[in-house]
Amino acid sequence: MVSRVIPVDDFDLVIFGGTGDLAHRKILPGLYRRFLAGQFPDTARIIGAARTKQDDAAFREEVRGAVVKFGGVPEGDENLTAFLNLIGYVAIDASGEDGWQDLKSRMRSGVIHAFYFSVAPSLFGDIAQRLAGYGIADADSRIVVEKPFGRDLTTARELNATLARHFVEEQIYRIDHYLGKETVQNLMAVRFANILFEPLWNAQYVDHVQITVAETVGVAGRGSYYDRSGAIRDMVQNHLMQLLCLIAMEPPYHFDPNAVRDEKLKVIRALEPVGPDDIVRGQYQAGGEGAAYVTDAENPDSRTESYVAMKVRIANWRWQGAPFYLRTGKKLRARTSEIAITFKEPPHSIFDDGVPRANQLVIRLQPNEGMNLKVMIKEPGPGGMRLVQVPLDMTFAEALGNDGADVPDAYERLIMDVIRGNQTLFMRGDEVEAAWAWTDPIIEAWETGKTRPEPYDAGSSGPEEALRLLHRDNRRWREIRA
Ligand code: NAD
Repeated sequence: MVSRVIPVDDFDLVIFGGTGDLAHRKILPGLYRRFLAGQFPDTARIIGAARTKQDDAAFREEVRGAVVKFGGVPEGDENLTAFLNLIGYVAIDASGEDGWQDLKSRMRSGVIHAFYFSVAPSLFGDIAQRLAGYGIADADSRIVVEKPFGRDLTTARELNATLARHFVEEQIYRIDHYLGKETVQNLMAVRFANILFEPLWNAQYVDHVQITVAETVGVAGRGSYYDRSGAIRDMVQNHLMQLLCLIAMEPPYHFDPNAVRDEKLKVIRALEPVGPDDIVRGQYQAGGEGAAYVTDAENPDSRTESYVAMKVRIANWRWQGAPFYLRTGKKLRARTSEIAITFKEPPHSIFDDGVPRANQLVIRLQPNEGMNLKVMIKEPGPGGMRLVQVPLDMTFAEALGNDGADVPDAYERLIMDVIRGNQTLFMRGDEVEAAWAWTDPIIEAWETGKTRPEPYDAGSSGPEEALRLLHRDNRRWREIRA
């Protein structure tokens, strides 16, 4: 099944930080793929804006290099040459006055204006102020901002306030690329477009939920950046929180940006504080070819966690009594992201075989996106009624008859949503603040207690203590495997 392309209107997209890593690896190759899919008109303009002094031609060659390298496109690709014709460049100083008049003169009237802030958050205020001050942005313009959105509640509030001085909430698109993933959106489709699951989707029938985002890579190469954030800031406050919200939220009245985000916000506000007994943090040790976290982070004394596991309770009618266990980490056994909903056992068994028969629904976000529902059936053969648990397994690519080649990646989809003016998959300011308000006390407790993360072996499933977090509740983590 070929995915349907709904074209967007003509636009001028300015990428501040167009020469940076994110622009090269994700934004520009993503735009090229949408161009190839015919999703936007060939009159659209993409303008890189960064400090490097260079002309349009030089930036086009840079873009060619990035799309070839990160988009897997052959060097002499004819379509790529057509795409490069849409590209321009303005050398600009975000915190000075150079380049802004030039940028203004490049902007066309009568088309959508979007400004992607792919720069350090410390420059957001400078850019927002100049876009407004030079009259480059108007009431219809959109701005896209990248994570990290603050490092605690105070800084997130400051950032929100800075942007709010020049843009209203409806113009601000805070990217959490997790929300752009096909399978993450599928969570909403599975829950709200089927009658099967929703009646069981509560603590009466659900025993517990596990959310796992495991990576095999360490932090080498970006260790000093990572060391200032750690797993809780880098993954839990944003990505895992968003997954938890989509699983736990009430059905929105409509698939509408504010209706969806209102429901997510209610979940975050209902999260109980997490005490020290309900959270385990870890740090990977040297193993195989790899160095220890402290070496990768270039900080021998680092107390930053590369792994975190926690038990989260949601204080509302739906979830009272059914905990959510979250875990994420680096240098783990396999790269996998999944959500597993374990249902309760039937209230009464008519079979006297002692076989546990809790149904489990596993939604795989990556790799091999799909769903797996474990159901009990009778083991074939004579000799009485023996039961066995079997998977009803569906890989989305197979079910839809494609190999995933035409499925847009998260950034592509989100950028097209910006042009379309659809904020459903972007975080609202109050959501971000509520998530920090919940995370801050956890981080403060670690900092004031000067606690050290538990060591774990590279290539393992994380620290032993994380196993105990579930064992003491008579539960166990699902195995981490690809
Ligand atoms: P980078 O350091 O590679 O690029 C920064 C860009 O900003 C460069 O183009 C540089 O020229 C420009 N810049 C810096 N100072 C400037 C100034 N005064 N005026 C104009 N331009 C200036 O950074 P990056 O990795 O591309 O990250 C950009 C943003 O995206 C950051 O906020 C980062 O946290 C976020 N982010 C990056 C990634 C990633 O994979 N790289 C992932 C998620 C979020």
